[in-house]
Amino acid sequence: MMHSFIYEALPSRVIFGNGALDQLAAEIERLHLAKVMVLSTPHHRQVSAEVAAALGDRSAGVYDQVVMHVPLEKAQAAREEALRRGAQGCVALGGGSTIGLGKAIALAHDLPIIAVPTTYAGSEMTPIWGITENGVKKTGRDPKVLPRTVIYDPSLTVSLPARLSVASGLNAIAHAVEGLYAQDANPIVSLMAEEGIRALAMGLPRIHADPQDLAARSDALYGAWLCGATLGAVGMALHHKICHTLGGSFNLPHAETHAVILPHAAAYNRAAAVPAMARIARALGATDAPSALHDLAKRMDAPLALKDLGLASADLDRAVDLIVARPYWNPAPVEPTRIRVLLERAWRGLPPE
Ligand code: NAD
Repeated sequence: MMHSFIYEALPSRVIFGNGALDQLAAEIERLHLAKVMVLSTPHHRQVSAEVAAALGDRSAGVYDQVVMHVPLEKAQAAREEALRRGAQGCVALGGGSTIGLGKAIALAHDLPIIAVPTTYAGSEMTPIWGITENGVKKTGRDPKVLPRTVIYDPSLTVSLPARLSVASGLNAIAHAVEGLYAQDANPIVSLMAEEGIRALAMGLPRIHADPQDLAARSDALYGAWLCGATLGAVGMALHHKICHTLGGSFNLPHAETHAVILPHAAAYNRAAAVPAMARIARALGATDAPSALHDLAKRMDAPLALKDLGLASADLDRAVDLIVARPYWNPAPVEPTRIRVLLERAWRGLPPE
């Protein structure tokens, strides 16, 4: 085989393990931050308050006004609050929405982020930010929003309900699936992607059976790290374009939308990305990647139909228009008729073609 690629490593420090949150104070010291503001959602109010209390003088308090998709007004309010409290950095404890708010602050004021992810979304490993202004989500890449330290503590994910865990895990797998057929794929990232799929496929069904299974939580979070690193390193394709469109323009829920679309997007690219499909199938212990992704989702009672996520059948044509108007690079050509068929099947909850 003739190899040809560019590989660029992103700087990141990862601390992984049960109880790893105990190392937060040492990490703050390591980064020479005199004071940090702890970002969280109301759901994590208690653990955030405990974290802030344990930091003593280094705490600039908790800020729990996190909402989905980082609306600009909320980002500005959080930025002002961080400055008012004299924070030199932020600890973002939560899912992609919380880490997204940390990124919005980092983008404006260069305040470094220590991320403590509690879902499998993967934002903590990427230099990608997103801010919603007048209903439109703008995204961009900037190295200063990449968290300086990421603390993965599986015990913090035990409270994530089984249904959300499964959807969030499939969201993570989607990063790896698209990373394997990315235009700028490279050998190291592909190794991470394949291993990420394998670890999540091993952990998620056990979490579905028992959300308290800490070993399964560890497998899934390990996989989410690898899939997040893949998302941060290489470009995404049709699957992510569809999900960004459905989330951004039709307000569909993030993780669940990824869960529904993934087998269909993989099927769309099946013939155009044969080596990637072989690696995805190998990671899933199967022969056909798209049907194995569908079977995995079905086995774990994941959402399978866009109609169950609140998308009206009448919206499908507009969704196709938006997807094909400014497509991302994709292994198979992005054709309106094929996309319409894909969306119709995903809307009805049919297996992938
Ligand atoms: P989220 O952060 O909105 O969390 C979903 C819900 O789960 C929230 O209600 C939250 O409070 C709750 N939750 C989180 N962790 C929990 C836990 N351990 N126990 C119980 N409840 C918990 O959702 P998400 O899927 O993590 O992130 C989605 C957002 O992140 C989207 O806006 C997406 O665009 C963004 N994102 C960005 C990137 C990036 O690289 N910039 C990558 C992935 C996702």
